[in-house]
Amino acid sequence: MPNRRAFLTAATAALAIRPTPTTAATSHTTSADTPRTTSATAQRATSARARTASPAAPATASADAPRTTSATAPHTTSATTPYAPSAAVPRTASTPASAALDVLLAGNRRYATGRSRHPHEGRAVRHALADGQHPLAVVVGCIDSRAAPELVFDQGPGDLLCVRTAGACLDEAVLGSIQYGTAELDIPLVLVLGHERCGAVAATLARLRTGAAMPGHLRHLVDAIAPAARSCRGLPGDWAEHTLTAHTTRVRDTLRRDPALRPATVAAARCDLDSGRVRLLP
Ligand SMILES: [Zn+2]
Repeated sequence: MPNRRAFLTAATAALAIRPTPTTAATSHTTSADTPRTTSATAQRATSARARTASPAAPATASADAPRTTSATAPHTTSATTPYAPSAAVPRTASTPASAALDVLLAGNRRYATGRSRHPHEGRAVRHALADGQHPLAVVVGCIDSRAAPELVFDQGPGDLLCVRTAGACLDEAVLGSIQYGTAELDIPLVLVLGHERCGAVAATLARLRTGAAMPGHLRHLVDAIAPAARSCRGLPGDWAEHTLTAHTTRVRDTLRRDPALRPATVAAARCDLDSGRVRLLP
């Protein structure tokens, strides 16, 4: 498919991935017992990092789960936990995504209880990441300043590929960005993250209540959320909450149906601004 290849080539160049001819197998784990095998691109990026990482300056981090980044690059996940390289393990369809989700939910528990660790922010990790990335998940979220995925999930540089628009609305740029993560970076999990008291949802409900036209580009956002709002209008309870849930799951289902994003697992969740808790949506 020349068009897709041309896009991916351009996207790779634009995002400064540095391909190398090596095909050495590497692995990447999202938890202590769930190895994740990287894609060819991620392997190339990892190999580039392995060439430049200094054995004398191991990276440190404080995530719950040790996360291997290459079979050769020295890298510790805490001051006392040595980096544990693992053999290449065939990637399964479901295990890597579920392991990535476990890491995110564990990070959210830390965030919600005031125990965030702000992992991977050290200079050594930054240097290691300069030559390649293999994030755990794509998070499709809202631009709201109170729902930043890296904070909500207590993740750091290199951990999440975040695509944020008001109301987590989709367009071709968003879809292309998600596909870059799943196809080029081999990210196994896409998480659509909605949040309570979303301004884009509130604007949509106001538009439907009053019939007033939305100015300029805001119309696109309202048009994207309006089907969900109409689907639950008249239900008992909070219309905004119903709309948020309906819209977030509609976005999730749209991504699930998109063949360009397979075989990534797509999930949806809601962030409670009061408690900080993230809850998966059925
Ligand atoms: Zn919002």
